[in-house]
Amino acid sequence: MVIVLKKNISESDKKSIKDFLSKNKFKINEITGEEETIFGAVGKLSIDPREVEILPGVDRVIPISKPYKMASREFKKDDTVVEITNIRGQVIRIGGLRVCVIAGPCAVENREQMFTIAKKVAESGAVLLRGGAYKPRTSPYAFQGLGEEGVKLLKEAGDAYGLPVVTEIVSASHIPVMKDYVDVFQIGARNMQNFELLKSVGALGKPVILKRGLSATIQEWLMAAEYLLSSGTDKVILCERGIRTYETATRNTLDLSAIPVLRSLTHLPIIVDPSHAVGIRDKVPPMALAAIAAGADGLIVEVHCNPEKALSDGAQSLYPEQFEKMMRDVQVLSPVVGREVSHLKQDRVYENPVSHRERGLPETETIVSYSGGQGAYAEQALLHYFDGKIKEEALPSFDHVFRAVADGKCDYGMIPLENSLAGSVYENYDNLYRYQDISIAGEIKLRIEHSLLAPEGSDISKIKSVYSHPQGFAQCREFLKEHPQWTLIDTPSTSDAARIVKEKNDITCAAIASEINSGIYKLKALCTGIETDPRNYTRFVVIGRTGEFTVENPQKATLVFSTPNDPGALYKSLEVFHKYSLNLTKLESRPIQGQPWKYRFYIDVTLPNGGVVLKKAFEELTVIAEEARILGLYSERN
Ligand code: PEP
Ligand code: MN
Repeated sequence: MVIVLKKNISESDKKSIKDFLSKNKFKINEITGEEETIFGAVGKLSIDPREVEILPGVDRVIPISKPYKMASREFKKDDTVVEITNIRGQVIRIGGLRVCVIAGPCAVENREQMFTIAKKVAESGAVLLRGGAYKPRTSPYAFQGLGEEGVKLLKEAGDAYGLPVVTEIVSASHIPVMKDYVDVFQIGARNMQNFELLKSVGALGKPVILKRGLSATIQEWLMAAEYLLSSGTDKVILCERGIRTYETATRNTLDLSAIPVLRSLTHLPIIVDPSHAVGIRDKVPPMALAAIAAGADGLIVEVHCNPEKALSDGAQSLYPEQFEKMMRDVQVLSPVVGREVSHLKQDRVYENPVSHRERGLPETETIVSYSGGQGAYAEQALLHYFDGKIKEEALPSFDHVFRAVADGKCDYGMIPLENSLAGSVYENYDNLYRYQDISIAGEIKLRIEHSLLAPEGSDISKIKSVYSHPQGFAQCREFLKEHPQWTLIDTPSTSDAARIVKEKNDITCAAIASEINSGIYKLKALCTGIETDPRNYTRFVVIGRTGEFTVENPQKATLVFSTPNDPGALYKSLEVFHKYSLNLTKLESRPIQGQPWKYRFYIDVTLPNGGVVLKKAFEELTVIAEEARILGLYSERN
């Protein structure tokens, strides 16, 4: 049963409830969720839930109708996010809105093989390294794995590239030799119902990937997860790897419908192993993409540098180049389903190392990226914000900026959030939600003055086409109304508009951009100050990796939350801020993809006392609202 505690329960009431449950031989799990604190109580005895309901401090008791308890959604509403820390102290999270990719060979064969493949898969974006050392082979004559030596090699190779390691355990007797080297234990399909093994591995408290048995139903699979959870680990990841059907064209049949089915039944993260599902290399990438489209939290894929010579599962192992291509496709597909691919912060790898070297950049300098090119407003914002004491990196889109920050290719990013004339930059509100490991580190408001720039020899009467970012057009709407015959062409940034007009060198083309660009791109300013109102400001925010920067005495916070579809739900959520006298300075709503007429709300509040009161308000908000998150505590740079 799930025992929901009253919000202001005292510690002594908590203890009495625990004592009562222990006396009745219940195992208790305390879960402090975003919305409420609960005790999950699982036991063999059945007691009347009303006996618990009357205990002081109990809000309500919900019986769990499913045979699996701790694995069920009824037990825990929020998605479980499994955290794994690598040798560099970086945290990799599996679950939530992230897509994590685990890759490596079927089996560890030798040192050179492991180091080569670890490097390759890390470069392509894998966040964990796989490799079997104890192989459960169908034939006793097939390669059985290197055993202890294999586990050590796997760990050495993983550590060299910051990749925590995943390997299969086939017998509890191997725990003593494996436990110090293994970050994530894998329970293979053949052992899914080896209950003694599940109990022993669960008791280690480490993350476990539980593969679906060859012929297991979803319920049997979740019962196996229950064995792990009830034995002591709360870090269970389910892995669909194909089930046995009458079809022989593929090694197994990948049951992708298990993903949405599991999503409603359990809070546990779900990954997919397309390699063992299909058994044929060329069929792996399409099924990997299908798994992401179906909502998987990650993939585990076999990759080998020389699959023809592999000691096991060569036919289904991808070449590193195929894996690289698959990762690029996963990267493109993930945002379509509202997800972000998790990347490990690698030691600085520049997208264009040559240009960096040419610019003589020391590797330790703070690097700040922005969207656009030299002359973009975001570039001016970052130069002001950081007093020019940084190196800047121009990237092609806002999404690239978020990714570069998430991957550690730069320290910070500068992105626009709203303009005083044209309104919010919705794309970046959506990005702030989607990139769960990024938060706002600071803000700066910049006055925006637009000019119409054209090649030498042009004048306003000759202009036919005008290039700019849609925000540029929106902020100059009144000026453009006077020239209805002009064709307006969107560009990714205003500085791109200036560059394109320069490259075209056509006197009928002009760009709307900052006048700074006239010097950079040798263009003539035909008109200046063409924004509709001179009080035209853009609010930029600095984004960084959550937990990797600190803001002293923050003066402002941005939060995001959604509300249940109940009358007054938004009102009740906002009332919390009123209660704590927190001034709300902005409210923005965005539709939630796939849930028509449901919205996510973004709010800004000013913090009179550096965030102390906000913490309390946020705790209350999490009870009323759904998926509330603080996107940043920060201050404005004047
Ligand atoms: C493996 O991952 O190498 C493996 C043996 O997988 P499964 O248990 O899914 O067959
Ligand atoms: Mn294999």
